[in-house]
Amino acid sequence: MIGRDELGHRSETVRRANLSAIVRELHSSGALTRSDLVTRTGLTRSAIRGLIGELVGGRLAIEGPATLDGTPGRPSPLVRPDPDRAVVLALEIAVDSLAAATVGLGGEVFDLVRVDLPRGRSSVVDIAAALAELAGTVRDRLASPDSIVGVGVAVVGVVRRDDGMVSMAPNLGWRDEPLGEHLSEALGLDVPITFANESDLAALAEHRRGVARGVDDIVLVWGSVGVGGGLIVDGEPLTGVAGYSGEVGHIPVNPDGLSCRCGSFGCWETEVGTSALLRRAGRPPEGGPEAWDAVLADAETGDPAALAAFAETGRWLGIGLAGIINILNPELVVLGGRLTASHPYIRSTLEAELDRRVLRASRRIVHVVTTSLGTDAPLLGAAELAFEPLLADPAAWLRPRHALAALASA
Ligand SMILES: [Zn+2]
Repeated sequence: MIGRDELGHRSETVRRANLSAIVRELHSSGALTRSDLVTRTGLTRSAIRGLIGELVGGRLAIEGPATLDGTPGRPSPLVRPDPDRAVVLALEIAVDSLAAATVGLGGEVFDLVRVDLPRGRSSVVDIAAALAELAGTVRDRLASPDSIVGVGVAVVGVVRRDDGMVSMAPNLGWRDEPLGEHLSEALGLDVPITFANESDLAALAEHRRGVARGVDDIVLVWGSVGVGGGLIVDGEPLTGVAGYSGEVGHIPVNPDGLSCRCGSFGCWETEVGTSALLRRAGRPPEGGPEAWDAVLADAETGDPAALAAFAETGRWLGIGLAGIINILNPELVVLGGRLTASHPYIRSTLEAELDRRVLRASRRIVHVVTTSLGTDAPLLGAAELAFEPLLADPAAWLRPRHALAALASA
């Protein structure tokens, strides 16, 4: 026998799940007619009408006048997310910069600021303070600063999702640093804060809003000093138990290779990262972005040494990627960071290596492309991460503000 309480509980669970399905559709597509929502969610017209009413009442959605959407029958009212009511703060600690953005429900970017990483001040306390200051700048420019519903933080390093404990960030010299603790304190906001590795977030952004939209099996490889990876499997980010997965840069590829920043040697990033290219082009490996740009400029003019350096990097990229493709059978490989500009010069050796090493059935399916969101992909992914609690249970945001605060601190 099912008791009345249990029935009530079940119908409440269904209501919350349906609200979530609608808000996810509105967030990813923008304006949709009620008929679109019926088609996409499989809910009845009357259910959609009731749930839209709740979302409009709670100011998560706006309903406009009816439009003829090209289908027979009555015109269907147009529903869009209300971007001003639910805004997230996206933050990023990148390899040589800090960034902050405010993004509304539906994906509209209100503001985006990027500054160079403060020189000589890279302690976790300094970085948290600088990032909070940047966050304050974009937040103060919002029409209503208390519309922030969540914070997402992209970190160039190995970071625990729930509390922002950074176990390793070699370019900052961090090991086991409680970034989350310092940043929460510096921000002083009473909303959920979630952390993730920047390549994981670049993959999420490309999946939701970029070149991999509609593709459910993706491998993103982000090349800079190190090499990061973001994996999406069956439409869901592959995070591992704590968020440490996707560290493709540390796949062992060369038993006789150079020592790696992680403490091992011969890792993929020692053959594919920016210093490997500089070394092959006959430049000091620690040359930095300017030296790397110079090698790219040489390749553009057809300089044989620069072209050979890129070709060899492409070969090593293909060797590692072949292993990843054989494990995951992705539809799309997305190259980001420095690999985007490298692509014309690494393409042929990379593809040749994939032809040689990837299982035929997988090889026929996979395509290698470059990012469409560019440098800001991790930051936009941080915004998507910050929206997740709201998208998962929008009903919680339809409650009065004081109940929300209790929820955030629970
Ligand atoms: Zn390593």
